[in-house]
Amino acid sequence: MARLHFTDEAEMYAYKAWQTLKLEPPADLQKVAQRLGIEVCEREFSGEVDGLYLRLPDVPPIIAINNSYIKPQVRRRFTLAHEIGHHLLSRRIQPGSRMFFFDTSSKKISIMERACDRFAALLLMPEDWVRRYFEELSFNPRLRVQIMASRFDVSMPAMRRRLRELGLQENRFNR
Ligand SMILES: [Zn+2]
Repeated sequence: MARLHFTDEAEMYAYKAWQTLKLEPPADLQKVAQRLGIEVCEREFSGEVDGLYLRLPDVPPIIAINNSYIKPQVRRRFTLAHEIGHHLLSRRIQPGSRMFFFDTSSKKISIMERACDRFAALLLMPEDWVRRYFEELSFNPRLRVQIMASRFDVSMPAMRRRLRELGLQENRFNR
């Protein structure tokens, strides 16, 4: 069933990626980047760097992710999804122009950064799949969040945040 209404561009782009590429959890972000013509590379940067997005005329846009050992795999994944967000969400603001975003581990406050985080969460954990797994795993409240986080290949805090956003409450009696 095709959706026609979206709250914002982040939601629309995440939805389109799942539809177009027929994704399944865990979302194949390399496939998404490839489809968009983005070159993704991993480098060891200093600890404060998470990743960056660079677009210059006449060459493919580049995303670089910090693969330092202090950045867990789930963190790198979220960063990659966030940087893909920069690619999609900055395109229409200044088409064809130079664009550079540098993401560090410090708190993000701008509208663009928040939109990219939202895009990342939606790309990694689409609402319909989250609801489906949440329901499926209702027999196992103790491990539910952990299992879901591993199915989506995201961190536990990211999974919890997403559940809260969707108004899905964890059972607390086993804590
Ligand atoms: Zn950013």
